Amino acid sequence: MNGLVTRIIKNPKYAANKAAAVIEAAVFRVRELLGARGGTECPVCGWRGFDFRSFTSPGVMYRRRRAVCPRCGSLGRHRALAVLLDKLGVSGPVLSISPIPGLHPFLEKRGIRLTVLDISPGRADIIGDVTALPFASGTWSVVICLHVLEHVRDDETAVREIHRSLAVGGHAVVQVPYDPDLAETVEYTEPDPLEEGHLRTYGADYAERLTAGLSSEKTDVQSNLTPEEVRLYGIRDAEFLVVEK
Ligand SMILES: [Zn+2]
Repeated sequence: MNGLVTRIIKNPKYAANKAAAVIEAAVFRVRELLGARGGTECPVCGWRGFDFRSFTSPGVMYRRRRAVCPRCGSLGRHRALAVLLDKLGVSGPVLSISPIPGLHPFLEKRGIRLTVLDISPGRADIIGDVTALPFASGTWSVVICLHVLEHVRDDETAVREIHRSLAVGGHAVVQVPYDPDLAETVEYTEPDPLEEGHLRTYGADYAERLTAGLSSEKTDVQSNLTPEEVRLYGIRDAEFLVVEK
């Protein structure tokens, strides 16, 4: 709580965003209590309600509306991932590199065991480095790696490690933020604090760069949904790089 108070005092813009998000969430909750169903449904946890809540970023000072599921905390990309995982038809153990909101109960409902690996303790089952995974080759049916590689210096080794740990026929689901208007990825010498510690800006070459020599394709979950489904599920950031072994 002290951290939140300090952040609010130090940064009026964060305070304004946070206050707007809290007020909006309260209004939506009242509308739900009054019986307004709205038109949103979380494909991760099954929550239905008036609308997703605002996401307030403490790092880069913006408020993204219709973003967070109030039950499981999923963002648009996590809901897109849920749709993709059902499409892939996961049948074996799943590894997630860093935790993903709502993923554990989502997979449990489908009888799938999830293991979370992270570089630091917290919600991880195993502490480890994505560039040297502590697993035998062929362990996982699916490995999920969303918004991690932009923080990893040797990102190409990380993808090869993920590929090694996959069972034959398994899939790696990778997503990085990228600038489609930038032809080539730009490396930084230091993590950029204004970009939440990113080590590079990926450009339009990100897929070739990360998966050279591997069998992979870009999948846009949104293109397989109707506009009504995109609105219903609050889908955003729906492009994934899917690597098949
Ligand atoms: Zn949810």
